Parts: sequence; C-alpha cells; structure tokens
Amino acid sequence: MSEQSMSTDVLVVGGGMAGLAGALALRENGANVTLVERAPEFGEVGAGLQMAPNASRVLKRWGLLEKALEIGVQPKHLVFRDAVTGEELTRQSLRGEFEERYGAPYVVIHRSDLHRVLLEGCEAAGVKLVNDVMVDNVETLNGRGIVHTAAGVDYEADVVIGADGLKSTLRSLVASDEPVSSAYVAYRGTVPITSETPATDLEDVVVYLGPDCHLVQYPLRKGELLNTVAVFKSPSFERGEEQYGGVDELQAAYKDCVPAVQAALANLGTSIRWPMYDRDPIENWVAGRMVLLGDAAHPMLQYLAQGACQALEDAAVLQDVTAGTVFTADGVNPAAWDGALAAFNSARAARTARVQRTARIWGESWHVSGLGRTLRNLLFKSRKDNDFQYNDWLYGQSGEGLPAPVAPRVDSNAAA
Ligand SMILES: Cc1cc2nc3c(=O)[nH]c(=O)nc-3n(C[C@H](O)[C@H](O)[C@H](O)COP(=O)(O)OP(=O)(O)OC[C@H]3O[C@@H](n4cnc5c(N)ncnc54)[C@H](O)[C@@H]3O)c2cc1C
Repeated sequence: MSEQSMSTDVLVVGGGMAGLAGALALRENGANVTLVERAPEFGEVGAGLQMAPNASRVLKRWGLLEKALEIGVQPKHLVFRDAVTGEELTRQSLRGEFEERYGAPYVVIHRSDLHRVLLEGCEAAGVKLVNDVMVDNVETLNGRGIVHTAAGVDYEADVVIGADGLKSTLRSLVASDEPVSSAYVAYRGTVPITSETPATDLEDVVVYLGPDCHLVQYPLRKGELLNTVAVFKSPSFERGEEQYGGVDELQAAYKDCVPAVQAALANLGTSIRWPMYDRDPIENWVAGRMVLLGDAAHPMLQYLAQGACQALEDAAVLQDVTAGTVFTADGVNPAAWDGALAAFNSARAARTARVQRTARIWGESWHVSGLGRTLRNLLFKSRKDNDFQYNDWLYGQSGEGLPAPVAPRVDSNAAA
C-alpha cells in the first residue's frame, strides 16, 4: 500500500448508471461509499433511454421515481410497425393494467436526466464522488480490495464494485473474453417537437422493423423532444473493414422503408456512430473482494432496452443481500462480504444471462426478411394487447434473481 492510500467500506469504479446505482444502494444500507470515475466530469452522452417497470420499481424504492417522472414521459403504447409497409404489427398498452400488473410505470427519459437523478441521489445520500481517477487494477490482500490507479494513489476497501462498463478493465480479473460485435451500428438524435413534426405516434414508443435495420422513436422531456435511434447492419463490417457503418451506409440501409422512416433519418446526429456490442454471459463476477456490476458484468444488445434496467436491478439485489449481513444494526461486518458477494452473483448471473441471450434473439426477429418477415408479422399481429406472456419474466415483480418488492419509504422528515 502506498502512503497516500485511502480507506473506505465500499469503493465503486465507474460513474455510469450502474456505478451510481450500486453506490446509492450500499449507501442506503449505511456503508461509507467512495465512487471514482476516470472522466473529468460526471455525465452521459447519447439520447433517450427506456426504463421499464423492473427498473422504475428500483427508483421507487430509493424515493427517486417522482424526480424521474418530473422530467420523463410515460408513453401510452409500445407500437411495432413494419418499416417497409408502415403497417402496425402489434401494440402494448403501457399504462393502466400494465402499470398495475408490474407495480411501476414505463418511463422514457433523457439519459443525462436519469444519470443526474442518480448522481443527485448519491450526493444527497453522502456518497463521496471523485473524478479524474483512472483505475488500473484491483487486488485482494488480507480480505480487503486494493485499488491501484494510474496516478499511483491507491484506495483500499472492504469491497470493490467494478462498474466500468462494456470495455471493463476489471472484468479481466474474472474472464479473458472480448466484446462481441453484432455488425450493427446505431445513430441517435433528439430534435424539438414542433408544429411541423408529424403527429402520428407522438405519445408512444414506436419501433419500425425492417430487413437488417430498425428505427425507434419516442418523446422525451415532457414531450418537448423527439428521440430517434436508427440501427442497421453494416456491409463494410461484413467486408472486414475496421471503420464500418458510415453515414453513406445509414442512408442506403433504409432505402426501402416508408417515407416516415426515411424522413426520421434527418433527426439523427451523424458525428457519433455507435457500433453495437455485447459479450457472452459469464457465470462468475467475483474475484476476491471485487465484484462486477452493470455492463461490466453482463453487457447486452439494446433490443430489450434493458442494459441500464438490469444495472438498477443488480444494485437493488446487492442492497438486499448485504442488509442485515454486512450492514447490521450493530455496525459493519466485513467478514460477511464473501457470502454476500456469492449470494449476489448467484442470484443475478442466470437472470442477466437470460436477458443477454433473449436480447440477441429478439433483435434477430426484428431484422428478418422474406419468409421470416412474413411469419414474424403474422405472429405479432395475432398477439392481443392484454397478452403479458412475453413480458412477465422480464417486468414481473417476483422471480429468481429479482430485488425484494418495494417497501414503502419512511420519510424521516415527516411529523411523528
Ligand atoms: C443504442 C443504445 C440504446 C440503449 N437503450 C437502452 C434503454 O432504452 N434502456 C436501458 O435500460 N438500457 C439501454 N441501453 C444500455 C445502457 O445504455 C447501458 O447498459 C448502461 O448505460 C450501462 O451502464 P454502466 O454504468 O454499466 O456502463 P457505462 O455507462 O459504460 O459506465 C462505465 C463508467 O465507468 C467509467 N470507467 C471505465 N473504465 C474506468 C476505469 N478504469 N477507471 C475509472 N472509471 C472507469 C467510464 O468512464 C464510465 O463512466 C442502450 C445502449 C445503447 C448502446
């Protein structure tokens, strides 16, 4: 240990959605938590994010749902359309029975807004937040995690949470794998909703399904902004080119789509392209006193809109398994961390692996052509709006690997 080392109960590496959620969850249990982030400032790039009830229930647990709702949108429906004909294939109502069944709303929110809600939650709870810290490695010595940083300042903690994202450095402690490219590339953008904006589906999440491409649109910021995401298979990736998925390919990918889809391409920012990666599921996320969380543990393709949602679930389950074991009424019991990490890993790995695998298959079904497309469309059209058979495993309130049901929050400021 260097002389400059700093000691804490929990050290979180990474200030994305997963790191902030993990930090807040353990702080809620009473831990002293320090979160370090390599970027000079906290924040998120990108546009909108769909937050399904399995994640909004977690915000509800932490008393943050109201804040998210103040700046987000509760869409009326999730609508699937064929991108070539524009025909509606199926729709899922997202309010009423849906919300009652899953105990929380479906919310679409700007990424930077959700990130800020979590960041402010951490600040208010007393998480120590530190920027400009690049973590190089973590080792476990005498039952404590030692975090080595590029600047040579070490941290030491009872446990280290590796929430360092898809390209995680800390994942190499448990696996020697690499991110897997899906050959698909996304472009995203948000534009103001004005009187010129086509009025169709403006209160819904709409997904246009096309051969080797799809396009998603939904409103953000109380309906002031329109979020658009276009995702397509890159021919230059298939040819083995390193820089794949340029703007020329974007236009070409949608040439057979209806005018509404082609017009929506004008809403996209083209300075950043987002190659889509995931990884194969792994069973073990724990190395000594280091555990992975969020994309570092289970990066997934975005088709189920669940990456951040699963990170919130992770955090809530970590909160559950450490309450009363590591963090007790008598104080912190660091010896209980090994059992708690094993319980967390075992609760979460199977569920997140299922989400990772299902996301791949779900994406494939979106991009089919020919007979596959005909059959997909028939199946989608035969589905009734109140059919929850495909949703329950993902959004349901109880099941293997899920956080405990939301308990009503006790407001400490309320008059006795
Ligand atoms: C196009 C697209 C659409 C998506 N849509 C949705 C959606 O609708 N709903 C949903 O739930 N999910 C969605 N996702 C997934 C979601 O964005 C991610 O799963 C989520 O943001 C991952 O959060 P994270 O904190 O695990 O990782 P990240 O956001 O990558 O955060 C990792 C953090 O760690 C920091 N870091 C990395 N290495 C180090 C280091 N060595 N030292 C210190 N700091 C480090 C990074 O700077 C970063 O801040 C989508 C993803 C994409 C690409």
